[in-house]
Amino acid sequence: MSLLEVSGLQTFYGASQALFGVDLSVGEGEVVALMGRNGMGKTTTIRSICNLTPPRTGAIRFAGSDITRRSPHRIARLGIGLVPEGRRCFPNLTVEENLVAAARGGKWSLTSVNRLFPRLAERRRQYANTLSGGEQQMLAIGRALMTNPKLLILDEATEGLAPVIRQDIWASIRALKQDGQSILIVDKALAELLPVADRCVILEKGRTVWTGVAGSLTPALQDRYLGV
Ligand code: ATP
Repeated sequence: MSLLEVSGLQTFYGASQALFGVDLSVGEGEVVALMGRNGMGKTTTIRSICNLTPPRTGAIRFAGSDITRRSPHRIARLGIGLVPEGRRCFPNLTVEENLVAAARGGKWSLTSVNRLFPRLAERRRQYANTLSGGEQQMLAIGRALMTNPKLLILDEATEGLAPVIRQDIWASIRALKQDGQSILIVDKALAELLPVADRCVILEKGRTVWTGVAGSLTPALQDRYLGV
């Protein structure tokens, strides 16, 4: 049984329909890349799973429970750790205070997050709003890990960051995979994304149009669905 099972998701923004039938699953310990060109519905799918934008129809099962349209707070408590696009941290709390505020018991703690991101340890007394974009992204991932999620969702975690720090973040994602963390990830950096992904799910105009192991996403398929 999959950890996350999404079927037939249809989501609207007011009268405007954004998702027309999204199906995807993430198994225990699996890294699934959610892909598609701009505006195809990746962020909306993530927002629907977390009920930040409630889906109109479809079903979402997580860790054996139906979580469709449960409150975002409850969904987080059940074990979905979201790192949203645009990395949200508390700007007027220090790095350490941000991490502690998110803490829930489990293997992820200040010590293990600081080991994954040594830069956060170095900056632990700095206010979050004094961090670079990349450091804020690390902090956003650290905060999600502090909740000890069964599933980590990363929406464009490396977008717009300096190359050096992007590589640090990819290294941490590889370490998380190595550690058996289940991950649903959206990212445009195919060269880094494909080697870390077990499976890919491709959306086109709000629908799942292709699912398969990352190794079978041929250049022709990439060209057809991702325009690369
Ligand atoms: P990107 O890679 O550009 O972030 P995406 O695949 O994540 O794209 P979404 O952001 O989910 O795509 O957008 C899916 C569709 O929903 C698009 O047509 C978009 O214009 C529309 N949409 C997204 N957010 C809103 C909103 N707040 N109100 C109305 N329409 C929206």
